[in-house]
Amino acid sequence: MSVRKILTVGTSSLRERSEEVTKSQIRSPMMRRLVRDMTDTLLEAKGIGLAAPQIGEQLRVVLFDVPEDNGYVEGGESLVRTICINPVVTVLDGPTAGYWEGCLSVPGKRGYVERPQHIRLDFMDLAAKSRSMEFDGFLSTVCQHEIDHLDGVLYIDRVKEPDLLVSEAEFNEQVE
Ligand code: ZN
Repeated sequence: MSVRKILTVGTSSLRERSEEVTKSQIRSPMMRRLVRDMTDTLLEAKGIGLAAPQIGEQLRVVLFDVPEDNGYVEGGESLVRTICINPVVTVLDGPTAGYWEGCLSVPGKRGYVERPQHIRLDFMDLAAKSRSMEFDGFLSTVCQHEIDHLDGVLYIDRVKEPDLLVSEAEFNEQVE
């Protein structure tokens, strides 16, 4: 186990653009270590996604682990234990929809963010093979949230009104 510290808002490196990963880096021991650390860290934190810069590695690598029984996703592509290298999101068409997002780098907060709900995700896998997946609904939001991290963007930047950023406690009261 190698659980790494998750950096939180206020850390300047979270606001930097991360570097593209080369094919030789993908095959390196460094990448195997990074993926292992990201997996251990995400499982320990019980999150659904983690971007490398959240553990202080400025590389365009994202790990998703959205359980299939999360209540939002019906059919389609799955994001269980999926590593995406150099991911690029292309918005396919409308509509947008909002979700109350949370982030391991913004502890104790929830914010309502609207994002496009039909996207294509192009990336390389751990074999340096190009992959392409399409997502609708909640998983498109999850993809865009994680990939924002690679550009130094946090979801709180996308919350349109102050009232739409609340504490975890306020959020739990609202939904009950
Ligand atoms: Zn996040």
